[in-house]
Amino acid sequence: MSEPMSEAVVAPGAVHVRAPGKLNLVLRVGPSAEDGYHPLATVFQAVSLYEDVIATPAEEISVSVSGRHAQQVPTDERNLAFRAAALLAEATGTDEGVHLQIAKQVPTAGGMGGGSADAAAALLACDLLWETGLAREELGHLAAELGADVPFALTGQTALGRGRGDELTPALARGRFYWVLALFADGLSTPEVFATWDRQQAESPSTTAALDVGDDVMQALVSGDPHRLAEVLVNDLGPAARELRPAVGTVLDQAESVGALAAVVSGSGPTVAALAADHASALEVAAELRAKDVADEVIVVTSPAHGARLVEPVRES
Ligand code: ATP
Repeated sequence: MSEPMSEAVVAPGAVHVRAPGKLNLVLRVGPSAEDGYHPLATVFQAVSLYEDVIATPAEEISVSVSGRHAQQVPTDERNLAFRAAALLAEATGTDEGVHLQIAKQVPTAGGMGGGSADAAAALLACDLLWETGLAREELGHLAAELGADVPFALTGQTALGRGRGDELTPALARGRFYWVLALFADGLSTPEVFATWDRQQAESPSTTAALDVGDDVMQALVSGDPHRLAEVLVNDLGPAARELRPAVGTVLDQAESVGALAAVVSGSGPTVAALAADHASALEVAAELRAKDVADEVIVVTSPAHGARLVEPVRES
């Protein structure tokens, strides 16, 4: 099981916030509107793969990054956590700065919302550090300005997403689900995946009727039964991710034969999430996939997980 970094010993005055990566259990895509964005109907579920952000008082805003795929992540104002801090400073009129130390577990450009989790964690950490007194709802509005997946990283758990994915409705889910994640060091560009989807649609339009998440999905979530959830997992971007990265197809094709109940691409990929019946089965599926060498890393996580929240510091006595 992939564990978050242990409660760090943070410097006095520093704030440590942890936010989760997500899977899309369902991702339905509609043709792009005039603004170029595709309308989505999705079910987000947060997983136990976390981003840790430690915010320390500073003169200016700065970012450092460690952990999984850290070398691929910019540390300047292109970093979503940097932008989150700058947006909060602007919105609240503070002239304080912050150093944001990001420890990554969520793969970069993996379709699991890692950058969005960093942004959500940075928003909350700076809000606490600067004592702005903003309500969680106001943080939610700022989150939506930063990116479509950022509001969900704040709330976590399970939610229905519409629009660009940022119009959230909490959804009920029971129990705990065990997932085997196939991770790739080389990510996929979200715009490129959507462009491939557009081309595939033009060549052979799919017959998806209404852009919606069916009642069967909501019932499967409430049942807490992984066998029922396995029947409803779907991602309309799956064929595009497969075309751009054949290894995605290899994992999708092999997951069930090694004991997974079903497998689905998360977001725009390339991460593939294979649902297992229970923890023991997840460990077996992970071992089999590792032996087949189908991905750069294979890990086990659970869902649902909490949204962005403060990690109480362990103070040195
Ligand atoms: P999405 O599906 O929202 O595009 P993703 O989960 O596939 O996102 P991210 O890990 O969020 O992918 O990153 C996408 C790109 O954003 C990366 O290629 C990277 O250059 C840039 N980026 C900016 N800030 C961050 C960050 N804090 N962590 C990771 N990537 C970041």
